[in-house]
Amino acid sequence: MVLYLKLFLLHFIFVLCGEKNASLVLPPRSPCNKCNQSKLNKAQNHSCSPPNDFSYGEGPTGPDNWPAMFRTCDGDKQSPINIDMSNLRRQRAGALDWSPAYFNTPKKMTLTNVGHRLVLRANYPDDCQPRLRAGILQKVYTFKAIDFHWGSTNSKGSEHTVDEYAYPMEMHVIHTSGVEFSNLQTVVIAYFFQIGEKRCTSIDKILEVFTKAVRHPNRPIKLRHPFSLSSLLYAFASEYITYEGSFTVPPCQEGVKWIIYPYPLEISLKQLEKFRLVCKYARDLVNNYRPIQPLNNRCIHFVS
Ligand SMILES: [Zn+2]
Repeated sequence: MVLYLKLFLLHFIFVLCGEKNASLVLPPRSPCNKCNQSKLNKAQNHSCSPPNDFSYGEGPTGPDNWPAMFRTCDGDKQSPINIDMSNLRRQRAGALDWSPAYFNTPKKMTLTNVGHRLVLRANYPDDCQPRLRAGILQKVYTFKAIDFHWGSTNSKGSEHTVDEYAYPMEMHVIHTSGVEFSNLQTVVIAYFFQIGEKRCTSIDKILEVFTKAVRHPNRPIKLRHPFSLSSLLYAFASEYITYEGSFTVPPCQEGVKWIIYPYPLEISLKQLEKFRLVCKYARDLVNNYRPIQPLNNRCIHFVS
């Protein structure tokens, strides 16, 4: 309820005029779900990670040991972070500009189990890529991929937290600018999911090939029904949180600009439970969230 009130107040403090672009919904404080802990435990006994690969959890390759395994995970601008809603710096900017391709259905979409994440990719003609510009961005950023992080219970799963509250799922929409590795810059748009009444139909289309993708690591599985990215994400123009951080998976390179939409999207419990059943086949695809990293001297901005 405190979080709800803070978001509600922010909404009216920062929006001076214009139409409301998202409805605020109380995040779920739901009871413990019935996610299949026994299946998870069983799966944890079965190791399918290659040697020297990282993992989640408390083992020797878990997040606490990533800095020893990957030097760049030991930086002072790491992600994810907790967003303290009482400690945001206000910033004014023009509207973010999402190109029309976000609203078009791509010819092909694939879902790939890359080991610790499920990655959704979409194919567009070269001259019609989804591109993000304006707002706080100095350059044009091209859409690359989407990945998901989720938990085995309703009280965990998101990588970022808001006033130490974790959502059951977080989605990252990854964009880059530049072609050379040396000048490649990354912007990640993050969305939280909360459990609601509404079924997200795009999530259903992902779930159609979900098990096949999970069972065949590193093989891109073609979606039977591609969909426009705008039907999965919300193409917001303003009212977002931003800070400078890193990738949340090793080698955790810094220099990533995070843009976080603070109003959660909805997923049904049934849909989320299908994501959780993945632990039957791949233990590291559930609870695949990195613990919160120190903020150090960074500022978190609320852009309106
Ligand atoms: Zn991610």
